[in-house]
Amino acid sequence: MLDIQGVSKTFPGASGGTVALQATDLAVEENDFITILGPSGCGKSTLLRMVAGLDTPTTGSIALDGRPVTGPGPDRGMVFQSYTLFPWLTVLQNVCFGLREQGLAQAEQQAIAQPFIAKVGLQGFENHFPRQLSGGMQQRTALARALANGPRMLLMDEPFGALDHQTRELMQELLQGIWEAERKTVLFVTHDIDEAIFMGNRVVVMSARPGRIKCDLPVPIAHPRH
Ligand code: ADP
Ligand code: ADP
Repeated sequence: MLDIQGVSKTFPGASGGTVALQATDLAVEENDFITILGPSGCGKSTLLRMVAGLDTPTTGSIALDGRPVTGPGPDRGMVFQSYTLFPWLTVLQNVCFGLREQGLAQAEQQAIAQPFIAKVGLQGFENHFPRQLSGGMQQRTALARALANGPRMLLMDEPFGALDHQTRELMQELLQGIWEAERKTVLFVTHDIDEAIFMGNRVVVMSARPGRIKCDLPVPIAHPRH
């Protein structure tokens, strides 16, 4: 589904710049949930941003279903660590945002948005503003917003990194359940080993300076935590 071939990324700067990623190959199959695990600075975000189309490789190619990625698109939904909700919009309006951009009527937007709000456990909070929500609830909203646009692929960059331990475990279980139910393809960046081995079906481990993939391991599915 997603083919990353010979990708490297150098950011310009003094003495040749910073090599963030070197000679990276990765083949992502439909419905894979890959956690990309590695220390800070190994190029995880850079890799994810290039898949998102927010940045371009220095060398190599990234193709989705055989077509080169040239920019962001509705086929890829993003969730970042820092809350990227629109603070002046309610939960419902945030989740409707992309649908509104597509020009759907308000009733249609809401008919699509509501089931995702329910799926992430936020019924009753539709009219709350982000500042009225806990961090976990804000990330649930961000997840519902990403899902509402109907992406085939979810790109998540340490989305639970700012949450407390217990909330984080709940969010991991929620995401694992959504992946199993909705059959999405997920790329999930983390530096937390626990998170990487709890969720998904593959762990890709990266090493730093310059960033490289060291190994790509299968993870047994449906492993209860307790
Ligand atoms: P990670 O997500 O694994 O922490 P990043 O992809 O953020 O790693 O960064 C990889 C390397 O690239 C780091 O050395 C970082 O400082 C550098 N880097 C990332 N983004 C930029 C940028 N926009 N300009 C210059 N250097 C960058
Ligand atoms: P309407 O959508 O009919 O304008 P709302 O009460 O839903 O009425 O929204 C009030 C205001 O909030 C809108 O005029 C618009 O500026 C903003 N807004 C509402 N929903 C969205 C959305 N999904 N995306 C962006 N802005 C929105």
